[in-house]
Amino acid sequence: MGKVLIIGAGGVGAVVAHKCARSPEIFSHIVLASRTLAKCEAIQKQLPRPVDVARVDADHTPEVVELIRSVKPDLVINVALPYQDLSIMDACLETRVNYMDTANYEPPDEARFCYKWQWDYHDRFKEKGIMALLGCGFDPGVTNVFCAFALKHRFDEIHTVDIMDCNAGDHGHPFATNFNPEINIREVTARGKYYDSGRWIETDPLSVHQSFDFPQIGVREMYLMYHEEMESLARHISGIHKMRFWMTFSQEYLTHLRVLQNVGMTRIDPVLYQGVQIVPLQFLKVLLPEPSSLAAGYTGKTCIGCMIEGIKDGKPLRYYIYNVCDHAECYREIQAQAISYTTGVPAMIGAMMILTGKWQGAGVFNVEEFDPDPFMEQLNRCGLPWIETYPEG
Ligand code: NDP
Repeated sequence: MGKVLIIGAGGVGAVVAHKCARSPEIFSHIVLASRTLAKCEAIQKQLPRPVDVARVDADHTPEVVELIRSVKPDLVINVALPYQDLSIMDACLETRVNYMDTANYEPPDEARFCYKWQWDYHDRFKEKGIMALLGCGFDPGVTNVFCAFALKHRFDEIHTVDIMDCNAGDHGHPFATNFNPEINIREVTARGKYYDSGRWIETDPLSVHQSFDFPQIGVREMYLMYHEEMESLARHISGIHKMRFWMTFSQEYLTHLRVLQNVGMTRIDPVLYQGVQIVPLQFLKVLLPEPSSLAAGYTGKTCIGCMIEGIKDGKPLRYYIYNVCDHAECYREIQAQAISYTTGVPAMIGAMMILTGKWQGAGVFNVEEFDPDPFMEQLNRCGLPWIETYPEG
């Protein structure tokens, strides 16, 4: 039915390639491209059917344009890093090809991610008659779809959303990050921020925390952080008063992070080392395990979902919708760990929505702007089933 060009051959790119390869009726032709060709070839060998591979440095729009012109895809799935979002969007504009990603743009020299840069492309995508779908992983992605689904089917009004992301897995390393270390550490060390009555309130990094009893996992401490889906949900889900994002961290992880910060290893400004400029965080990334390499032997589960409060039929309602994903099961299925899996599967479903015409439009969109129902149906079919409960307040 359609040809996709996947850019990025890391933990998430591998899952997208695997899942697309398993649906030949939708993804008739797949090309996997990344900066390091050997990584594409390693994934290519594991796939159940032939796909093409290519090398591209997506920081350079002309290289991406050339690749798109030779591949002629219907859609480019960007699962490289947030730094490449704009250069790939520019290439899609130039070649009039649809675009999607899982993380919003972030300039390399400033740890500040926000949708403005990409939303500013709306009119240009609209003029070309193509679409860009932003943030279609799990969070952002599925959490946005959960909110759209709750508003469509379970609530008349949504007042409060708490997005809670728990990884209770054990990869056996004293310190490692589950997705790209540079992006992960920039996100975790940033100041916290939440939405309250139309205003954004800032907090010191990881200073606000509380415990929550996660289903199938148990009680874990979760920390308030800023996360990008809140920016788009505040814009698209009308009536929300308060929105917060929480993520669990072990004491071991936090202690390592504190030490790394204290000694300057998380800095993103260049320092001179033996006559060469190096960015400490980029150097740290080289030392840490690759996210995809954590998969073998990873045990335990993730639980990511939304606690939503609002009104239904004139009465207050509390509603919790979530998915639980098991690291070892992901590994058995496609040699992935659950963080890559929970990001890559929704990216494949988003691509499916675009290629089958279920989600259509000209311009730049976030996932909650579309009908959540076909996406929710595919989550259940493609390995990320969701569960709803009505906990007491
Ligand atoms: P990895 O670091 O494992 O993989 C990133 C891949 O992108 C690597 O193959 C890397 O190549 C490639 N890449 C980097 N720079 C370029 C470039 N200039 N041109 C072409 N390819 C490039 O990261 P993950 O797979 O864990 O994460 C991928 C994306 O998914 C990230 O943007 C991350 O923020 C996002 N994400 C989203 C989540 C969500 O729920 N929405 C959750 C988790 C991740 P090389 O190996 O050569 O460096």
